[in-house]
Amino acid sequence: MIKKSMTAKELIEESIFLLKKAGIESPKLNAELIMAHCMNKDRTYLYSNYNKKLSRIESNYFKSLVRRRLKREPVQYIVGESEFMSLPFKLNRNVLIPRPETEILVEYALNYCLENKKRSFKIIDIGCGSGNIILSIAKYAPKLCYYATDISRGALRVTKENKIINKIKDTVHLLQTDGFSGIKPKRTFNAVLSNPPYIPIDEIKKLESEVKDFEPERALSGGKDGLDNVRNIIDEAPRYLKKGGLLAIEIGCGQGKRVMKHIKSNKFYIHTKLIKDLSGIERVLVAVRK
Ligand code: GLN
Repeated sequence: MIKKSMTAKELIEESIFLLKKAGIESPKLNAELIMAHCMNKDRTYLYSNYNKKLSRIESNYFKSLVRRRLKREPVQYIVGESEFMSLPFKLNRNVLIPRPETEILVEYALNYCLENKKRSFKIIDIGCGSGNIILSIAKYAPKLCYYATDISRGALRVTKENKIINKIKDTVHLLQTDGFSGIKPKRTFNAVLSNPPYIPIDEIKKLESEVKDFEPERALSGGKDGLDNVRNIIDEAPRYLKKGGLLAIEIGCGQGKRVMKHIKSNKFYIHTKLIKDLSGIERVLVAVRK
């Protein structure tokens, strides 16, 4: 018997039921994002085409993507993109999914760049992942000099693609390297930014499946106490920052005190402070190079 073709609405309703039953948060949003992706359109289009009939191929494709979500794969990997600083970012499993709290770091750094704007202003992002930090700064503060490193070639490929889809004309120098290694310590940068992996290794297995089973472990793990990379960047950055240059590093929940203690023992910084995110968590360490 040939099954009659289903409408987008019917398919969405069916999948909301399945997603809810599997305990997945925001089932409606998930189903709609997947459907819009299948239609190759955005959610606004979907809302005015809710009763559109889908072909057998389209329905099967939609169902196969919902099955991936039921297995806990994050919807951002399934549809291959997400939004950050109101810009679209392509994603795959080589990179972390950009988090809204990282916008705190970007907004702070962006203000700093716009206030001090000079053509020769050099900004570097250590561990750029999808490129969300460096590319959103390049988009909103154009015509400065941008640099980004990542240890993963796959991640740098994603950054490159995101530069193209966001139509960023400026050069963004990408370098495949671990942290600062491979960059000359000549104190040439006006800002060193990073959202480094900062989760204690033993905590990762306690995280939700979406994170621990799908996001790249090397973009999450910060060693035994989570602070290996944060300390390393604090200790290395003075050799790269100009006098008056900005250091801004994202940190994890509950790490503020230890991070402050570490940076205060370093004689190269002044004006060190922690900035809270919208949930009141100390989220970004900032300091100025003496
Ligand atoms: N810059 C990226 C982000 O903020 C990558 C972070 C990472 O890989 N730890 O999401």
